[in-house]
Order: sequence, then C-alpha cells, then structure tokens
Amino acid sequence: MAAITGQQFLNRLRKNPPTLYIDGARVEDPTTHPATRNMAHSLAGLYDLQNRPDLRDKLTFEENGQRYPMSLLVPRTREDLARIGEAHRIRADYSLGFLGRAPDYMNANVMAAGAGANYFNRCEASRPGDPRRDFAANMRRYSEFVRDHDLCLTHALTNPQVNRAKMASELPDPYIALGVVEEREEGIIVRGARMMATLPIADEILIFPSTVLKENADKSRYAMGFAVPTNTPGLSFQCREPFDVGRDPEDHPLGSRFDEQDAFVIFDDVLVPWERVFLLYDVELANKAYAATDAVLHMAYQVVNLKIAKTEAFLGTAQSIVNAIGSGGFQHVQSKVAEIIIMLEIMRALEVAAREGATVNEYGVMTPARGPLDAARNYYPAEYARLPELLQLLGASGIIMMPGKADREGPLGPQISKYLQAGNASAEERLKLFRLAWDMSMSSFGGRQSLYEKFFFGDPVRMHSALYEVYNKGPYLERISAFLKRAEKPEGVAADD
Ligand SMILES: Cc1cc2nc3c(=O)[nH]c(=O)nc-3n(C[C@H](O)[C@H](O)[C@H](O)COP(=O)(O)OP(=O)(O)OC[C@H]3O[C@@H](n4cnc5c(N)ncnc54)[C@H](O)[C@@H]3O)c2cc1C
Repeated sequence: MAAITGQQFLNRLRKNPPTLYIDGARVEDPTTHPATRNMAHSLAGLYDLQNRPDLRDKLTFEENGQRYPMSLLVPRTREDLARIGEAHRIRADYSLGFLGRAPDYMNANVMAAGAGANYFNRCEASRPGDPRRDFAANMRRYSEFVRDHDLCLTHALTNPQVNRAKMASELPDPYIALGVVEEREEGIIVRGARMMATLPIADEILIFPSTVLKENADKSRYAMGFAVPTNTPGLSFQCREPFDVGRDPEDHPLGSRFDEQDAFVIFDDVLVPWERVFLLYDVELANKAYAATDAVLHMAYQVVNLKIAKTEAFLGTAQSIVNAIGSGGFQHVQSKVAEIIIMLEIMRALEVAAREGATVNEYGVMTPARGPLDAARNYYPAEYARLPELLQLLGASGIIMMPGKADREGPLGPQISKYLQAGNASAEERLKLFRLAWDMSMSSFGGRQSLYEKFFFGDPVRMHSALYEVYNKGPYLERISAFLKRAEKPEGVAADD
C-alpha cells in the first residue's frame, strides 16, 4: 500500500476505530464523532499532501517501485537528512506547527528502532532465530510493517502520577503502572496504565521502552517494549475534554481543526502477541533504548523542524497584528517582534548544526548531532511561553474583543465592520487574524499548547540533568586548569617587575 491517501486513512479508521472514550461514552466512529471528526479529517489532509503532484517528491521517497513517507527514509547521507528535514517542515506548515504528534514524530522513532533492531537482541528474554520471540527480528519487521502500510502511531511513556516518591512496584497496586502479568504461549499479558498518549486517533500504539524506569531490579515487570493496534481487546483510551467545541474554523481556526487529543491509556489484561514484543524485563536496556538506537535524535530532529515552522507562524501572526493596527513604528513593538526573529534564527541554526554535524552511527544510519538537538529540546520548552505572551502584548484588547462569524452576520454586523476594521484591512480580515492569535495563545487550545511545549519531550528538570550528565565538559575543565597553571606575565613585562 505505502504512502496512503487521506481517504484510505479515514477508511481504515472507520473499519478499525481505536477504543476511545470521551465525555463518558465510547466513540464509535472517530471520523464522524463531533469531538474527533475534524481532527480525523485534518490528518487525512496531511496524508493527502504526500500525494499532491507538486509535493510528492518532497514528501515521499521511492524504493523498489513503491513510494513511502519521507519520515520513514533511513538516512544514509547528510543530503538524506536535509530531505527529511524539509519534509518535516512542509508537513508542519500544514498546521502552522500546532500538531505536535503528526505521524512523522513516531515514524522517526520506528525508522531508527528498525535500523538499530539488533539492539533488542541484547535482551536475555529474546530468542534469536525463533520466528516469534526474536526481538530484533520483531522490531525490524514492525518497522517495515509501519512503512508498508503508512500507519499512524501514538505512544505513551510515563506511568500514572499516583506517587512520584515511590517506585512502580511500591504503589498500592502493582499494576497501576503498566506491567507484565504473565507469559502465555501466544504472547504476554499486560495490565496497568500509561499517561499519556497524544493523538489516540491512531492505528497503533507503540509502547517503546520508557526512559524513566526507576526500578533497581535487573529483571522488572515494568521494562517492556511492544506495539498493538489501538482497538486491541482490553485496551482503552480515556480522552481529555475536547477543545473542538463545534465552532466554525473562522472562529476557532486551530482548535476546530487540530485538536490532536490526549488520552491516558488503560491496559486491562491485554494480550500482546510474541511477534509484537521488542523488549522484556531488562531495566538497563529499556532505559537506554531511545539513546542506543538514536531514535531520540531522529525524533528531536523532527521536533526542531516542527518548532521552526511553529515559530515562523508566530512571527507571521505577530507582524500581521502589527501591520493591522499600525503599531510597527514603536520601538518596543519592533523589539518584541525581534525577540521572535531571534528565537527563530536560533532554532534554524540548531537545525543546520545538527544536520551538518551528523555522523553515521553503528547501524549505518546518518544521525544528526546530539549537542545542537539537546540544546534545542532544552531551549525551546523554556522559551516557548514568551511566544504567546508576545502575541498578547502586541494584540492587547484586540486579542479578546473578537466578535465571531455569527456576530458579524447578526444585527450589529455593520457596526462591527466599522469599528473593528484594521488600518490595512476589513473587520472580517482583522477578526480572523486576531482569532488565530487568540487560538495560538489564549484559548483552551492555546493553553494546552503551552503545557505541551513544557513537557512533551519529558520533564524539563530531568532533561537539564540528563544534559549535564552526558555533555562532555572535559576539554573545558582542562582549559581552565591549564590557564590557572600558566605562570607567565603579559609580553613585555620583565619577570622581576
Ligand atoms: C499536553 C501533553 C502531551 C503529552 N503527550 C505525550 C505523549 O504523546 N506520549 C508520552 O509518552 N508522553 C506524553 N506526555 C507526557 C510527558 O512525557 C510528561 O508530561 C513528562 O515526561 C513529565 O512527566 P509527568 O507529566 O508524569 O510529570 P511528573 O513526573 O509527575 O512530574 C510532576 C512534577 O514533579 C517533578 N518531579 C517528579 N519526579 C521528579 C524527579 N525524579 N526529579 C525531579 N523532579 C521530579 C517534576 O519536575 C514536575 O515538576 C505529554 C504531556 C503533556 C503535558
């Protein structure tokens, strides 16, 4: 099949709907349910992009006569990485960068894990050569399966928040956190929950080995990696309150189209067939899986490109507001727009540095450089909050006084047209723009984006610690030590002066 169309995606979703619950009820068909249908169709639009004649060569690649999504290309050269990066940015533009978990993100994970599949045979529970329990073969096959069917994946890494002072095994019930209950002839039974999975409107869920396991034991029921369809018996997704509240896209330009949803995931004795198991019981292997396969770097590379597109959208919106109300002559206004430009250029520079500094890893994959990507994924979450704040500061009351489409068509329509026009545009155009700024920065959709940016790649506190731990500080220690030992005086000063 490969590189599917939007219609194929919708048909598949209709045929095998994920087990979603919203507002206390099962979503029977996510392509028609009021809270999910627009998102499902937006995803379909994203799949259609790759079949557009003008974008086909940029968004897909050809292998053995088949076309596949560019995000699944195994990069062998820096040029490959550049092609992948461009595809990420084009696809990110589709949602102005507000779809955090478009399928590209998990594709990067699956691509790298598939290429580095041998890692999974280091696991003692793997049976190399066994048609079902060879974890490396399972990972490789799964990666090909995702590619061949152009699947849409969600994932969930963290355990429920119940008590962060305790390990999963110390909680009141050993299966609050997702754990293995037993092995059976057909596979493993897993029970518990994971929090949380963005984009549950997906074909499959990948439970990739978590990076946050704190278990000390060599063998832990909480260390695992597997994938199952999102409609597997016993698996349910409890979604949060929807942000698509049925408003016209003119009124909620982002929330009405790109509510990717977040869900916590309940596994009620789910059977995972052996063919879908990638790792079992090994805490150390589980904790290192993202780093050892370099999946984390390919995912971070997708993220950097996505955030470039998102920052460009903030810049375009900010400058449009400035133009609309004629505030561009004020120095502090220029300075605020300049702040966005600086952020954008920093992210662009980090993308270039990651790509130019790329090296081939032990699995033959051209892998973007870690330093710039670590910088980007620590920098952006810390700075992002300033972007919505800048829109608020530039838009002021305009960003809240925004009569909607129905108001514009109602009895006060003529007055709205007169009093809410812009210096350079009609009231209708101005209100559309300010509604976009509001959805980016202040609506419930915009608020969720702010939280998402803080945490989507992990807890910022622990990410800083991880950077501190892995960064090679040795050369700089040596330089300072050597400087302190240097006894000579500046040139021209005699030794006995
Ligand atoms: C909108 C949104 C979407 C998300 N989507 C996904 C997704 O698609 N897939 C996915 O896997 N995850 C997703 N996440 C989850 C994300 O990975 C986590 O939020 C992140 O890893 C932090 O974990 P937590 O939320 O459980 O916070 P916690 O770990 O419970 O942290 C809560 C607070 O306690 C502090 N804390 C807890 N433990 C420690 C510690 N050991 N040391 C220092 N401080 C500590 C934290 O710093 C923080 O202040 C999403 C999160 C959000 C907010």
